Amino acid sequence: MKSNYLQTPIDYLKGIGPNRADALRKELGIHTFQDLLNLFPNRYIDRTQYYKISRLQQSNADIQVIGKITGFKEVAQKRGKRLVANFVDDTGSMELVWFRGQKWIKDNLKMHVDYVAFGKANAFGGKFSMPHPEMELLSEHESNMRSAMQPVYPSTEKLANKGITNRVINKTMQQIFLDTNGKFVETLSDNLLSELNLISKSEALFNIHFPKSQELLSKAQFRLKFEELFYIQLQLIIKNLIHKLKIKGFPFDKVGTYFNTFYKDHLPFELTGAQKRVLREIRSDLGSNAQMNRLLQGDVGSGKTIVAFMSMLMALDNDFQACLMAPTEILSVQHYNGLLELSKELKISIELLTGSTKTSKRRVIHEKLESGELQLLIGTHALLEDKVKFKNLGLAIIDEQHRFGVAQRSKLWHKNTSPPHVLVMTATPIPRTLAMSVYGDLDISVIDELPPGRKAIKTVHRYDKNRLNVFRFIRDEIKLGRQVYVVYPLIKENEKMDYKDLMDGYDSLSRDFPMPEYQISIVHGKMKPADKEFEMQRFIKGETQIMVATTVIEVGVNVPNASVMIVESAERFGLSQLHQLRGRVGRGAEQSYCILMTGHKLSANSKTRIETMVKTNDGFEIAEVDLRLRGPGDIMGTQQSGVLNLKIADIIKDNTILQHARYHAKAILNDDRSLSKPENLPILNTYKSLSKYKNIWNYIS
Ligand code: ADP
Ligand code: MG
Repeated sequence: MKSNYLQTPIDYLKGIGPNRADALRKELGIHTFQDLLNLFPNRYIDRTQYYKISRLQQSNADIQVIGKITGFKEVAQKRGKRLVANFVDDTGSMELVWFRGQKWIKDNLKMHVDYVAFGKANAFGGKFSMPHPEMELLSEHESNMRSAMQPVYPSTEKLANKGITNRVINKTMQQIFLDTNGKFVETLSDNLLSELNLISKSEALFNIHFPKSQELLSKAQFRLKFEELFYIQLQLIIKNLIHKLKIKGFPFDKVGTYFNTFYKDHLPFELTGAQKRVLREIRSDLGSNAQMNRLLQGDVGSGKTIVAFMSMLMALDNDFQACLMAPTEILSVQHYNGLLELSKELKISIELLTGSTKTSKRRVIHEKLESGELQLLIGTHALLEDKVKFKNLGLAIIDEQHRFGVAQRSKLWHKNTSPPHVLVMTATPIPRTLAMSVYGDLDISVIDELPPGRKAIKTVHRYDKNRLNVFRFIRDEIKLGRQVYVVYPLIKENEKMDYKDLMDGYDSLSRDFPMPEYQISIVHGKMKPADKEFEMQRFIKGETQIMVATTVIEVGVNVPNASVMIVESAERFGLSQLHQLRGRVGRGAEQSYCILMTGHKLSANSKTRIETMVKTNDGFEIAEVDLRLRGPGDIMGTQQSGVLNLKIADIIKDNTILQHARYHAKAILNDDRSLSKPENLPILNTYKSLSKYKNIWNYIS
């Protein structure tokens, strides 16, 4: 094999002309022989089994049927026409259907000759039909290599239209194996191969494309999945190491007066074990020479704010400034008030900067920031504006990170000559496994313990028709002096209807809970910030008993006296949103409740979401279910991380392999940071070529 054989453009492969090569490039990103070699089958089908037409069943599987075409007809439809062939065997008849390429089909398929039709069979009006079947003469079919595990490759409609069928891919794949004798460069070290009992690269590639047995197929899959995850982890860990070496932070080496005074004299409660542990982790980062880049995960109500505050005190003790950025105005105001309260005995200068800060005030803040007189700045995106310049920003904390993009995060960095330490806090737990792959280059701290004395929130599901009972319950709670949230969904595409629902809901509540006995606040996105703030404050001060709102209150609002969260049309909310909303109650000593209202008809998916909420209060458990329901696509950060471009591993199902991969990547780097030991040469070579490509499979072999 010539050393650069696999880098040959796909155009030069037998059976692939420029036309098909173009389609392969555009549709599947396949440019070279190597890319094709790394096109792994989605699944395997048994091509030694044939179905009788009378035994067909509705299923999603590809099947093959032996029969003869007895005639064609054209059927007019909305746009154009479809070509239908009558296909019979000795047990019955079915239809083969083409919506495109009809002339070619009619000219090339023979009547009354045995064919194998391969595809998905659907039942339509009592008869089975197979759209765009792959057709092969039985005589040719029998002379071909067939197996009980024939690979099915990813495809697209465009590829099918250009005649790049599964069979074509299969044949060209065979060509590559013939040309190379099936010998490919090993990409893992001998140590790994023997320790994990992995098969060689060449064996794995052969068996993924032409499985010799079920056992070898699963060994091939395991090896390739491991390899894929191993190199992703290796890259992430190296990135993190390089980051620590290269990017010098400001070492906060003093344990100073602010922190100690606060800890000794002003701590409003005993910290939980988890809070203490996380503070130690942060302190050790801040004291080292490297810039901190840490993700702090903690369920709603786990007490992240005080951790943030005490971390900022460490910055102040070392004569640096600190800032805290939150995604909404309401939340920043709340943080500001909370931090004012915490710091009131400490004589710290602290300001709030948001979109609605007056120009004159703004100017003062800008000046005090640049002179260094201002120590703590709290705010929204407004902090990112170019005019906002710090004298010496030492620590930037970002709350509820999922609302901010990565680009915004890096903007904060550039507010200094040297980047500040960064702490990102999130209350939407990311399953640990996913966090590992998405944020493998961040350090992660977890607060996995709630403050003591919290009663678990009771969650129930109620149908809309039981609303009267729910209202009765609200009345009882209000009588006990508690407050109630009623939240409505708000989805962009449906905004008008949603506002109508919100207003209708507000009207109906106002009738059932009339003034002056009851006072109701309302807050939604169309209100001016000042009005929102006014209504929020009324609720916070206890002047109103009910808060009707859209999801603007989802994040961070803290009113310990509120004990009931009612979510209207709960079936329309995602799991993490529901969990966030529920987290608004259960913040005081009283028993709290979350009532999920829905209509009668629920999709399977909504049902699972509601049942999950009723069953558990554990944010991490909820995140796992969420990941299973939605896939990793919607979870923050996944787009950048490449976990969605996995070719063979599945971030959810192959969780255990991922952990192994991470463990071994770490162990190897611990032992041989520069990968310079001879036994790690295959890994070094692979890693080096990897950095040239986006997708890790573009380099391998
Ligand atoms: P989150 O992690 O959701 O941001 P907060 O920081 O807002 O949570 O804390 C939730 C509530 O718990 C606040 O009222 C806070 O004062 C309180 N709290 C935090 N830590 C403790 C603790 N160790 N003991 C008692 N209460 C605590
Ligand atoms: Mg919070």
